[in-house]
Amino acid sequence: VPELPEVETVRRSLLPGLYDGTITAVEVSRFPLRQRPIDRAALEALVGARFTEARRHGKYLMLDTSCGASLLVHLGMSGRLLLVEREAPLAKHTHVVLSLSTGRALRYVDPRRFGIVRSYRTASLPATDELAALGPDPITGTFDVATLTAALETERDLKAVLLDQKVVAGLGNIYVSEALWEAKLSPRQRGEGVRGPQIRALHAAIGKVLRRAVKNHGTSLSDYVDATGQSGWNQDALRVYEKTGAPCRRCRTKICRIVQAGRSTYYCPTCQSR
Ligand SMILES: [Zn+2]
Repeated sequence: VPELPEVETVRRSLLPGLYDGTITAVEVSRFPLRQRPIDRAALEALVGARFTEARRHGKYLMLDTSCGASLLVHLGMSGRLLLVEREAPLAKHTHVVLSLSTGRALRYVDPRRFGIVRSYRTASLPATDELAALGPDPITGTFDVATLTAALETERDLKAVLLDQKVVAGLGNIYVSEALWEAKLSPRQRGEGVRGPQIRALHAAIGKVLRRAVKNHGTSLSDYVDATGQSGWNQDALRVYEKTGAPCRRCRTKICRIVQAGRSTYYCPTCQSR
């Protein structure tokens, strides 16, 4: 599932070519995305415009255009946003195609259809259902130690707090496990049980694992590729995620997997005992 580093890598890999030329045509499939029909008319209103900016907040991409509207994209579970030559073979499960006058096309491919491709007025983006409640972005935003400290005044466990997009936008299963290992904190620890130095360590760990993953072009364990179809290599840098039974890099204890709220967490039971 794409998280902040994967979405950031997609954003960066779109830049060569995205701003060239105008949108000349829009095609959409008849299938809904995240249980909502694709709004063909809203997307067709982009014809004639060109892309002017590619921004990201958490796991959302915002592609602004010259007509005052923006394309809001979320990759969901299995989404791919590709910028390819128009003649390139059309992948199965392609749901949106925006052709560009340069001969290229922006394509959204999503087998599981949990993603989002919607058009909004750029000015209204911050107030949309998707973005209004999002917490700060840990790379580009205002996610600081004070914000994390306030969010940890809760009985919820650390896994749940960090997965909450209202607290911090962009973390998912992979980077929550990795950040908690870096900070030597148990995923089952309650927020209110974490003290000042540990909070600072956790804040630093979140930044560290995300920046390392961006540098490594994201984690490609299943579907994820960037906008040119290239896989990332951060899977080689993971310390705990999907490492059940492998020795902890710090203490050689075998990494364990537990399930919290229906989702897997990986951790070292020795160095993350509390
Ligand atoms: Zn360990």
